[in-house]
Formats: sequence, C-alpha cells, structure tokens
Amino acid sequence: MTLEERKKQIEDRVAELTANLQKIEDDLDQPLPAHLEDQAIDLEDDEVLERLGRTQQQELRLLNDALRRIADGTYGVCAKCGDDISQARLDAVPYAMICRDCAA
Ligand SMILES: [Zn+2]
Repeated sequence: MTLEERKKQIEDRVAELTANLQKIEDDLDQPLPAHLEDQAIDLEDDEVLERLGRTQQQELRLLNDALRRIADGTYGVCAKCGDDISQARLDAVPYAMICRDCAA
C-alpha cells in the first residue's frame, strides 16, 4: 500500500468514526422516555454508548496523530528504534507508532 493509499484508508476511517460519534451524541441527546422502567433501560444504553464513544474518540485521536505523521514524513517509522514498521502491522493497526519488536 502506498502512503497515499494509507492516508486515504485512515481518512475513510476518520470519516466513519466521526459519523458514528455524531450518531452516538444524537442518541444521548434524546430525551428520556416517560416511563420509569424505560428510563432505566435508556440510562443503561446511554452508559454503553458513552463507553463506546470514548473508545472511538480515542481511536479518532490516534488516527489524526497518524495523519499528522504522514504529513510530516515520520509515518511508518518506529518512534522507539527508528526502524520501519512493517506493512502487515500498519494494515492491522494503521496508527501504530512503534514496530512489533518494540511493542512486544
Ligand atoms: Zn521499534
């Protein structure tokens, strides 16, 4: 995969996550249902959504960091040892900052 393609892949994922987070926020903004029983279920749902939202926000941040590294030319270089991070690892974790050896 070329760097251009990688950038596209990350940008697509950023767009997807941004849309997801927007949907979660919309869901959380929904007023509580009138019945108490429904309210409890809704509040539980909200907690799940919030947790999900936090995970996705974190991924979003990491992906944006990766886009910055693409822009400044340090993407795909291990931040610890300076070796190239393998394509296979970047395929699995596009925002990887360190190589597999250093991550192990
Ligand atoms: Zn390394």
